[in-house]
Amino acid sequence: MVPAKEVMVGIDMGGTSLRALVVNAQNEILAIEKQPTNVAQKPEGLIRDMAAMADDVVRAAGLRKSQLRAVSIGAPGAVDPEHGVVYHAPNLGWEEVHLGAKLRKLLRVPVFVENDVNVGVAGEHALGAGRGAQELVGIFVGTGIGGGIISRGELYLGMRGAAAEVGHMIVQVDGPLCGCGNHGCIEALASRTAMERDVRAAIRAGQKSCVLQLMQERGKDRMTSSIIQRAIKRNDPVMRKVMKRAQYFLGMAVASVVNLLDPDCVVMGGGIAERLGEFFVAPIRKTAYENFLRRHDAERVKIVPGTLGDNAGPLGAVVLARKRMEK
Ligand SMILES: [Zn+2]
Repeated sequence: MVPAKEVMVGIDMGGTSLRALVVNAQNEILAIEKQPTNVAQKPEGLIRDMAAMADDVVRAAGLRKSQLRAVSIGAPGAVDPEHGVVYHAPNLGWEEVHLGAKLRKLLRVPVFVENDVNVGVAGEHALGAGRGAQELVGIFVGTGIGGGIISRGELYLGMRGAAAEVGHMIVQVDGPLCGCGNHGCIEALASRTAMERDVRAAIRAGQKSCVLQLMQERGKDRMTSSIIQRAIKRNDPVMRKVMKRAQYFLGMAVASVVNLLDPDCVVMGGGIAERLGEFFVAPIRKTAYENFLRRHDAERVKIVPGTLGDNAGPLGAVVLARKRMEK
């Protein structure tokens, strides 16, 4: 039996899906709900969807609403956690939405709002691959590349909460154009979007690849992590070559981050790292180790795939909310 006011709900607000989970005081998952994100509707509609999801997931765990202590959300884009405001979330079409206050009105429990990458990193740090690390960097490779830094056990946010934009470190001057407007960011060289661009270019140039056929078979118009995994399993030469190049750039980025921050652990997260695990991370680690300034004890820096998958975000949201409530 779960005592009153002990359970917490964590929600990850992705551009394509919403994921909610409910945990007990030990952060053990009691139930999970998932649904597509309807971004076509106004913010109020999406906020109502999340309120309904929080109710549903509590019920799915066989609990009562009165047992819910708080809800914590990982939201994409520029977020002000102090005031629960999402300032700018291009994937959702949101500008200055008072998410925390609006959701609190509907649910009548405290609501916390954090940045989606920070919650993922906090989750892996507290409960996943980065457990026990004092100084940790999380790098999440997906549509873009997101990053988060834990320093002395706490999230490092910088002056305006804008720190840890690992994806926009420039690793190739005059390289390909990035979504941010600069050229040669690691995101423009090694994200899933960049890999898809390179695979399509190779196919256009006449190289043989099964990727487009796999996408058609699976009804996907984008090269998702599952398509990448299938192409790698089939030993697709174009996919392998493109991934190898992305891994090289990621290895260089990890080396630079480690030389700058001296962490004890780097967690590689996101769909590709989760699906391919060590296969994806090993070449990144090798390149990184070769480019550390402190090569003689390189192995002291762990470079590992994330272990929580899609639960890293909602679990991290709960972990950060607990810290805020303790303050
Ligand atoms: Zn950029």
